[in-house]
Amino acid sequence: MTYTLTDAHKLIRDTARRVAREKVAPRAAEMDETGEYPHDVFVAFKDVGLLGLTVPQEYGGSGAGFLALALAVEEVAKHCNSSALILLLSALSTQPIVLGGNDEQKGRWLPRSASGEVKGAFCLTEPNAGSDAAAIESRAVRDGDDYVIDGEKVFISGGSVADFIAFFAKTAANGPAKGGSASGGGPRVISGFIVPTDSPGFSVARTDRKMGVIGVPTANIVLQGCRVSAANRLGEEGRGFRTAMLTLNTCRPVVGARGLGLAEGAIAYALDYARERKAFGKALVEHQAIQFLLADAAIGIEAARHLVYEGAWMVDQGQYDRQHAAYLSIAKTFATELAIKVSSDAIQVLGAQGYMKDHPLERHYRDARQLTIVEGTSQIQRLVIARAMIERDIVYW
Ligand SMILES: Cc1cc2nc3c(=O)[nH]c(=O)nc-3n(C[C@H](O)[C@H](O)[C@H](O)COP(=O)(O)OP(=O)(O)OC[C@H]3O[C@@H](n4cnc5c(N)ncnc54)[C@H](O)[C@@H]3O)c2cc1C
Repeated sequence: MTYTLTDAHKLIRDTARRVAREKVAPRAAEMDETGEYPHDVFVAFKDVGLLGLTVPQEYGGSGAGFLALALAVEEVAKHCNSSALILLLSALSTQPIVLGGNDEQKGRWLPRSASGEVKGAFCLTEPNAGSDAAAIESRAVRDGDDYVIDGEKVFISGGSVADFIAFFAKTAANGPAKGGSASGGGPRVISGFIVPTDSPGFSVARTDRKMGVIGVPTANIVLQGCRVSAANRLGEEGRGFRTAMLTLNTCRPVVGARGLGLAEGAIAYALDYARERKAFGKALVEHQAIQFLLADAAIGIEAARHLVYEGAWMVDQGQYDRQHAAYLSIAKTFATELAIKVSSDAIQVLGAQGYMKDHPLERHYRDARQLTIVEGTSQIQRLVIARAMIERDIVYW
């Protein structure tokens, strides 16, 4: 079995393509320049129902799934990766609830997320714990019917515009944990929480100055004595790390879709330019060196497309646990590394013009550089892939 695109998938892709051309493309350079979150783009996505693609129908979403989301993200990323991230965040912030929440939590947060009434963020990374996420130091201490949470999260996409965050903290101090050590703790002392951002003790310490994907702020979030009801804990104590990892697994092909779309948009722009620009008496497209560069981009794009669609389809089939993680990592790694190469090559096609802000390629290049770092670096993906080979989840004979 493998993916096929249904009429529903094609409709969502075409809708996203239209919104991307009409509402996103005209705003892309401006948001990159100003760094202001594009609320109008969020509303444009909301108006056509693109914010609830991965939210189940019984909780107000369309339940269209991750392949549908990947298709939509690809279309948007052809023009603007900040806007593509907004779509991705609709899943990254709600998946902890879909995967780890109870009926009450799902009923409270998912319909409002799917409708665009609220937006969320995913808070895992800390100053002393990035790739080694199990080393987080945030603490949630039980106090009667509440938890009091203290901790700092860094580089949180959309954290400063979020209405709620999925926050991961250690709860080891509350009694014997199911694993890890009581002092430092390990993955099995981590719990997930939904924290409304109007909770006392929540603050945005700052937003970061950064290289790319500038339209979506990256925020430093501090919880200081932040009291939330125990009803906001996602699942049992100690289940948070698994929820966080599964959330990342499900979203990895969608990060790949950000890379895929970016590569397509960059090379399509370069091709248009190369048809018109002349050197040595003929159009650039007639020079074989340029043709090979274009062809290499197409080879990579078509390979990435299948990896990304297949990975997203696997997620829709429920195949995103440890056993399947390697394929999702392959999709993410290939498509995001491709985005860096193709956007760089696209600049080369334009020569000096490619380096200028009059064209979108330098923005695509800066945006692409983010993709091999977020949601697990390329190195961490390779650890996952190699582990699967060693443990025979991937077998070649
Ligand atoms: C723009 C942006 C947005 C982000 N958004 C979010 C968000 O919304 N939510 C969130 O929680 N986080 C977010 N992050 C954080 C991101 O997930 C982390 O940056 C990432 O997981 C890597 O962690 P680190 O930066 O601390 O790098 P480190 O873990 O310090 O790693 C540094 C380098 O060492 C390598 N390395 C580390 N361990 C190993 C190993 N075992 N083997 C081989 N190499 C290794 C890494 O690959 C990397 O190259 C964002 C980051 C950026 C840049």
